[in-house]
Amino acid sequence: MSQKEALLKKVKELEVGFIHLQFTDIMGVMKNVSILTDQLDKALDNEMMFDGSSIDGFVRIEESDMYLWPDLDTFTVFPWTSQPKEARIICDVYKPDGTPFVGCPRNALKSVLKEAEEMGYTMNVGPECEFFLFNTDEQGNPTLDTHDNAGYFDLAPIDLGGSARLDMVNVLTEMGFEIEASHHEVAPGQHEIDFKYADALTTADNIMTFKMAVRIVAQRHGLHATFMPKPRFGINGSGMHINLSLATLEGKNAFYDEVDPMQLSATTYAFLAGVIKNARGFAAVTNPTVNSYKRLVPGYEAPVMIAWSASNRSPLIRIPAKRGNSTRIELRNPDPSANPYLALAAILRAGLDGIKNKLTPPDPVVTNLYEMNDEERSLNCIDCLPGSLFEAVQELAKNDVIKGALGPHITEKFMDAALYEWKKYSAYVSQWELDRYLRKF
Ligand code: ADP
Ligand code: GLU
Ligand code: MG
Ligand code: MG
Repeated sequence: MSQKEALLKKVKELEVGFIHLQFTDIMGVMKNVSILTDQLDKALDNEMMFDGSSIDGFVRIEESDMYLWPDLDTFTVFPWTSQPKEARIICDVYKPDGTPFVGCPRNALKSVLKEAEEMGYTMNVGPECEFFLFNTDEQGNPTLDTHDNAGYFDLAPIDLGGSARLDMVNVLTEMGFEIEASHHEVAPGQHEIDFKYADALTTADNIMTFKMAVRIVAQRHGLHATFMPKPRFGINGSGMHINLSLATLEGKNAFYDEVDPMQLSATTYAFLAGVIKNARGFAAVTNPTVNSYKRLVPGYEAPVMIAWSASNRSPLIRIPAKRGNSTRIELRNPDPSANPYLALAAILRAGLDGIKNKLTPPDPVVTNLYEMNDEERSLNCIDCLPGSLFEAVQELAKNDVIKGALGPHITEKFMDAALYEWKKYSAYVSQWELDRYLRKF
């Protein structure tokens, strides 16, 4: 039986009534076309057309016909639906001539994965997605009130979001996720659910599914889940640490080397060096909102300085203690507002740049970088991440490695959108300014 026939049979057996064909736009927002199952046969033959000009950053009106090519491996039933059940399939976007559309973020990631494969590597990624659960008001709109005053690893009854979180874990498990841990995070109302690493494409799909499922379950508990990086001033923001390792095509962890003093391979050091060299260039992609840069400030467990350490949580990269098959690096700047396909494409290409050019990383840092002053920093040649979205876009514009990961189409649309966002933000008069200047001047 072909994979298509098997899927049609499964849909019938499970009594699925609706299929959502999903894809992700350039800004990382999930899009969706829903069909009744009688249209599935046609959809699986890649015949589902949509108007690409209506999707932000896709195409002009004159060339708007786009096709969805479903990836059959991503078929998943939504556990929160009853009769008729609903399921989804993630799709790639293709042009009418049968070639991949260069504006599709999933296609962009696939291109960089191919480049890695040609160099003999696959990439494994495990993300740590943090989020806040806020109360909603009578109209169902999100507030900034949290349901608890709990902190790191606290449990019920202080952690009132705990039951929502357990439900999220159950739903995600039913959808095929292997949940490794879930816990209350440091800030009031902040949570984290960690799922097992997988190849980069599967993980990017999983991040999109994760955010959708978490939001839906929160809503069913009368809460609002947000992946906004820094919803409240003065407390920790939400990161999406990216744990990553390269594997050889035979499946061996390419970051592990038992004879090295740190038990890290030459590949790891070169990859690290590439990530460090290109970090200012990929920040716009891994931290794509104005708000992202309010998280990247000292004192809240988020990185500011471009350095690495074996243990310390203040620099950009930490090397978790695990070795053998679990040898990995943890990149700490990405936040959950990032488009996961583009973020992973950019990070991987940064690392590959280090391998291709045999780059050497700086020495690891051992001190708490939040306590390092500017003079010590410049003595140690430690650079900072961009301080704003504007600075990050300027860095992206200068970085051919990262622009190459996105391709010219996505780079242009992405930078236009970010600069538009920056202009809108800069022109806005905030409460902070009023408090500061209204009486003074
Ligand atoms: P932390 O050390 O910050 O507490 P966690 O234990 O919360 O990290 O998360 C670890 C993540 O790293 C999980 O998603 C896990 O599956 C992933 N991981 C474990 N081994 C590897 C590996 N070899 N490559 C990539 N990710 C990995
Ligand atoms: N919330 C922190 C951040 O913004 C990370 C906390 C942690 O180390 O888990 O990155
Ligand atoms: Mg965390
Ligand atoms: Mg972490």
